[in-house]
Parts: sequence; C-alpha cells; structure tokens
Amino acid sequence: MQQDTLWQAVLGEIELSVSRGNFITWFKNTSLVSSQDGVVVIGVSNIFIKQSLEKKYTALFSEVLKKNGIEAENIEYKIISSTESSRITHQEKPVEIDRATGTTVVEADDSTEAKAKSGVLSHSYGQGLNERYTLDNFVVGDGNELAFAACQSISTQPGTKYNPLFLYGGVGIGKTHLIQAVGNAIRINNPKSKILYISTEQFVREFVQALRNRTTAAFASYYRAADVLIVDDIQFISGKDKMQEEFFHTFNTLHQANKQIIMSSDKPPKDIPTLEARLQSRFAGGMTIDMQIPDFETRCAIIETKAQDHGTHLNPEVIEYLATNINTNIRELEGALNQLMAWCEMRSIEPTLDLASNLLNINKTRPKHLSSKQVIERTARHFSVPFDDIVGPKRDKDIVVPRQVAMYMLRNELHLSFPKIAKELGRKDHTTAIHSVEKIQKEIQLDPTLRTAVAEIKESLYA
Ligand code: ADP
Ligand code: MG
Repeated sequence: MQQDTLWQAVLGEIELSVSRGNFITWFKNTSLVSSQDGVVVIGVSNIFIKQSLEKKYTALFSEVLKKNGIEAENIEYKIISSTESSRITHQEKPVEIDRATGTTVVEADDSTEAKAKSGVLSHSYGQGLNERYTLDNFVVGDGNELAFAACQSISTQPGTKYNPLFLYGGVGIGKTHLIQAVGNAIRINNPKSKILYISTEQFVREFVQALRNRTTAAFASYYRAADVLIVDDIQFISGKDKMQEEFFHTFNTLHQANKQIIMSSDKPPKDIPTLEARLQSRFAGGMTIDMQIPDFETRCAIIETKAQDHGTHLNPEVIEYLATNINTNIRELEGALNQLMAWCEMRSIEPTLDLASNLLNINKTRPKHLSSKQVIERTARHFSVPFDDIVGPKRDKDIVVPRQVAMYMLRNELHLSFPKIAKELGRKDHTTAIHSVEKIQKEIQLDPTLRTAVAEIKESLYA
C-alpha cells in the first residue's frame, strides 16, 4: 500500500518533467517492485522499455525517488508479466476471474482462438476492465449523479433503457471510472457476458492493423459479438473516415440486437469535428449526459474516501484545503493527495495544513504568462540582490540562498524540470537544482522567516 502511494507520487512527479508522449510510452505502466537497502527494483513490461529506461531515465528516477524520501544507490529494472505488475500496483488489471464464483470468465473460443485466427486482436473479452473502478467506490454528488444513476441502471439491465449511453465532460472528472465500473458491475451480475472495454485509440490502432493484414472481417465479427461495448474517449474517432464507417456498422449490429453500448467523450456528439452526421445522430440517440466536476462537498468526500482507502486519516482543514484549491480535475486532486500521503508516510508524520500547502504546488490563480525571468527577478528584488548575481557565478551566502529560493520558486510555481531550472540560473549541473529545491523545501518547515519570504515572493508574483 505504501509502495503504491509512493509510486503514484513518483510517477506524478515524472509526468511533470517529461513530455506526455514519453510518459505514456516509458513510465505509465511501470511499478515499484521493491525498495530495500538502497536497491530499488522497478517493474517494466518488456525488454524494450527496460533498455530505454536504463539508458536514459535512471538519473531521473533517482532524483524523483530522492525527492520522495528514497535514496536509491542502485536502480534495477525487472521485466514482469502484466498480472504480476497489477498485483504490485493494483492498476490496469485485466479482469479474468469472476469474483463471485472464482471461475475464469474468458472463454477459450472467445479469446485465444479468435485472437489467433485474426492475428490482430490483442485482447479478449473482459480484458481492459480494471477492477479498481467500481460503482461502490465512486463518490456520488452534484455534477455526476445523473451519470451515476444511468450507469447503475445499466449495470442491472444492460441494453434496455439507456442505449447508447454517451457521457461527456472535461478531463479527470470520472468518465473512465464510471464506464469501467459499469463493465465490472455487469460482469459480476452476469459473468458470462461478453464485455469489451476499449479506448478509441486502441480501437483505431487495431482497425488499422486489421486493414493492413486484411483481417477486417475478423475484427468486425469480434466486436459485433460483444454483449456490452464500452468505448472510451470516442472523440478520437474524429477525422478517421474508414473507422467511422466500420464503427457505424458495429454500432448498428449491436444496437439492433439490444446490446449495450457505452461511450465517453470530452465533448458532446455534435461538437466532435468531422463526425459523420449519421454517427452523430446514433451517438445522441440514447441518453447523453454532461458530467461536471463534482461540487466542493463531493470533492471533500472523494478525498476522505481515498485517504481512508489508504488507511490515512486527514483532518478536515487539510481535506477542505485540497478540495478548495484543486477544483477542476479529480485526477489532479488524487495526485496531490497521493503525493501528500507518500511524503508523510515516508517520514512517519501527520499531514497538516502547512505541509499540504507547502508540499503541493497548488495555486490556481497562477497566470499563464508568468516567465522564469519574472520569477527570478521578483526573488532577487525580495532579497535585494542584483538579478545578474543570482544567475552569475558568485557563491557568497547572501547570493546562494536567494538563488536556491529562486530555484524553489521555479519548481513550485512554474513546475519546471530540474535541468531547465539549472539552465535558467546559469548552472551546468541539474543536481544543484535538485539539492537547492529540496533544501528550501525542508527549511521552510523549520524556518518561519524563510517561510514568510517565500509567501511574500509568491504574493508579489500574483499581485
Ligand atoms: P476522465 O476519464 O473523466 O478523464 P477518470 O475517470 O480517469 O477521469 O478519473 C480520474 C481519477 O479520479 C480516477 O482515479 C477516478 O477514480 C477518480 N474519480 C473521479 N471521479 C470520482 C468520484 N466521483 N469518486 C471517486 N473517484 C473519482
Ligand atoms: Mg478517461
């Protein structure tokens, strides 16, 4: 449990320092296998990822682990199977065993053989569902209650009332959680049911591969044999004409047979660019629900539930602080909470309001146009030292501290990567930036003067 939280925090941090593409390719599916006596073992899914991480990212892991309280003298990578990895991370677990009966749900005919025949389908019915997402652990409140009610109804009577169900809304507000949860619930109610959950990106990828291998017939029959088809982020079908054509037929086949179709999207059907009119009307032909970010009370309840799941007790002021300051995205809220809990667990300390506000880079009023130069300038001005000295070679104490504070500000306010911070301050070595940021972070806890200085600089930045 503790490892989970730590790894979430580490990945959250890495996500800020590398590009989205790199994050998804190299880091997203890693896990923490063990951490003992300075040896950290990271689980990866294949040799390709192992080699790339070894070659390019060991230093980054080491930095970020250190930030989270782990001094790794040695980082090793271990290739582990996906079930092994899901046991470790409790994530992305393809559901293969029915919980009620303990029997294997995936039937040989449906999965392995079909896969072998088509040569393209990389998953079997039931795969793609992640047990972590349930209707029970979805907190219901203003903003998501209608969507929840629809999902609950579908879970007991799929294919009858709300068909298709089309959920749309912003990033990180629980769309994937809900549609996965319906899949899991249907599976529990009816273990034989062929449930397909797929992201639109994977759907498109498989389709393109089927076109290339001339196996579109197998592709089509596989999808058209589903009892429940759940397609996440359907907006990505935009601009893919052939895929739209294929999906139109799949949709019709399933719909006519009263099979349940569930889709999520970041926008309503009419706003998905280049979506064929006939698909647009099909998508909107059942129940279309706009999901909103849950209100303050619900956000508090979400934080409380997630903290409880980790066995952590948070006092109300910390909960309210998080719920007030992170008010657009539950994923971010969860990330912040994980970071806070990991930090505290590593040090065996209680999460306090002060700690939360210092540790988490929360500042929703942060203007987008704030530049590194402005941040350094304000810091220099606060300490009455010349800008040129802060970015120059001097090592006098009255320059070094402002320089470290400037690095801390760049990290916390602009979320710059350590190499970038070092560069902005004219340093060659980015480990200087890591140490500086860490030092200030620690000292802020102990030194009220420094704490005030940082708060004042922050205030001047957003004034
Ligand atoms: P989306 O698909 O809308 O981008 P996700 O479903 O991935 O968002 O949600 C992001 C994270 O927030 C997930 O970890 C999810 O479990 C969590 N989450 C969102 N809404 C809720 C909720 N109402 N109750 C519990 N967890 C939630
Ligand atoms: Mg999603």
